[in-house]
Amino acid sequence: MKKSIIIIGSGMGGLAAGIYGQSNGFKTTIFEAHHLPGGQCTSWKRKGYVFDACLHTLNGLKPDTKTYAFWQELGAVPCENVKRNEFVSAIDSGGNNFHHYFDLEKLESHMKQLSPEDGKLIDEYIKCIKSFLSINDMLGITNFGTFWEKLRIVPFFLSKLKQFQYTMATYAKKFKHPFLRKAFPYIRNSLPDMPLFGYLAEYTSYITGDSGWPRGGGLMFSKNMADYYKQLGGVIHYKKNVVKILTENNRASGVELEDGTQFTADYIISNADGRKTILEMLDGKYMNKKVARYCEPFPDNFEVAFSVIVYLGVKRDLSSCPSALLQFLDQPEEIGGHCFDHLHMQIFGFDTSMAPAGKGVIKVELFTKASHFARLYQDKAAYQAEKNKIGNKVINLLEKQFPGLRADVEVVDIATLNTWERYMGGTLGHNNFPYKYKNLTDIRNIMDFIFGLNKMFNLPGLKNFYFTGQWVTSMGSLFSNALTGKNVIQKICKHCGVKFVK
Ligand SMILES: Cc1cc2nc3c(=O)[nH]c(=O)nc-3n(C[C@H](O)[C@H](O)[C@H](O)COP(=O)(O)OP(=O)(O)OC[C@H]3O[C@@H](n4cnc5c(N)ncnc54)[C@H](O)[C@@H]3O)c2cc1C
Repeated sequence: MKKSIIIIGSGMGGLAAGIYGQSNGFKTTIFEAHHLPGGQCTSWKRKGYVFDACLHTLNGLKPDTKTYAFWQELGAVPCENVKRNEFVSAIDSGGNNFHHYFDLEKLESHMKQLSPEDGKLIDEYIKCIKSFLSINDMLGITNFGTFWEKLRIVPFFLSKLKQFQYTMATYAKKFKHPFLRKAFPYIRNSLPDMPLFGYLAEYTSYITGDSGWPRGGGLMFSKNMADYYKQLGGVIHYKKNVVKILTENNRASGVELEDGTQFTADYIISNADGRKTILEMLDGKYMNKKVARYCEPFPDNFEVAFSVIVYLGVKRDLSSCPSALLQFLDQPEEIGGHCFDHLHMQIFGFDTSMAPAGKGVIKVELFTKASHFARLYQDKAAYQAEKNKIGNKVINLLEKQFPGLRADVEVVDIATLNTWERYMGGTLGHNNFPYKYKNLTDIRNIMDFIFGLNKMFNLPGLKNFYFTGQWVTSMGSLFSNALTGKNVIQKICKHCGVKFVK
């Protein structure tokens, strides 16, 4: 008889576990609290505008790469890669502008025109970018390569040790030109602590066509996977919130839903928030020192990236706007308890499927302290008032770049960490990763990710139970979290003595 697996949650990790589970002869069932698949990889519609939750970059859009092959196994591709001209444009009201083009000749001449005094550094920068391009399918090899394939690119990484020491912020200091010094730290989604090599790996994967934007956004991508899962015979129950994981003699044996119904299975996989799984669904029974440390709450003053997202549906043609814009402000502005000297936004004029004809979406991503909205959320009126205030302020600031914008705004929608918690069941919005290191771009997180260290797939003393998704990877990316679904099924196959097939 087929062994059965229950999967809690249909995020990337949950869907991938379901798909590989079905392909390997298991009987799998997903219980998903939301009414849609995909978890964070989702989007929603307001008056014809599509607001996308998570995507900036999707890796694995180029057919001859390992990541594409992985997405193919999951039924997620093909999807159209909508081309963009630049990674980001940075501007200020004094007429300064810096466009980080994908065309390297254009980038070089633009940067040199902007700052002839930085000529030598620009040569070094362009040379460094080109060296990243010399490795075919770098992201694929790093993430999906065999030991020997990985070993073959070690000399490249050794030759780049000098670049490894830089973050976006520290590299920016090398520029003499004031606007380059100011803008460069923020070009990768306003994450100045991002290691430079991480940015260059991502940026060059756009040039090769491996990374990009899938037409239609995140939900379409997740739905492709959910449809494929169902084609393989998998079952998803939506609006089914799991509240308990049942155990028998320290073996995970089933789940209990909010309405009290219980279901049993041979294996249980949680793609849900790790803290909730460990502390609530399992009543904190399977802990040791390491698990306790991973479950520590994020401190109140922890600054969370993308913790407030302002979506604007505007009746204006945005097709000639850059796809991502860093707008430096004339003076620092307080928004949601955080002081900003710039606004970072995605402008969806480049994907016509994101808005009705002749209209477009602007998505402004802000940072706040973890505690800011959590406190306000206790008082619904105060929470709504703060959201309105933020929306108004953002529109006012954008007016400088887009005169007359306010009159064109047809829809304003604002997501906070509480919105994510409400829809995804996390304990800190979308930050469903252990509190191992302070932030996502911490070099130790990236090293753990590359070398597969410190991953928490299991819990001490609990058999037949596995985690997938961000709790395992400590990282935010679709393919890495989907990959944990494959890893878990490989582990279950090994446990059952069955040969894993892709
Ligand atoms: C703002 C933002 C931008 C991002 N940008 C990118 C990007 O550009 N490129 C990229 O590759 N990645 C990006 N990411 C990261 C990526 O979206 C996530 O890392 C990935 O989607 C997480 O997948 P997951 O497997 O951890 O599951 P999640 O997406 O966290 O899904 C978990 C699922 O479990 C369900 N669930 C939770 N609790 C229960 C319960 N008790 N019962 C039943 N179901 C439950 C939830 O409803 C959800 O569907 C971004 C993330 C964010 C937040």
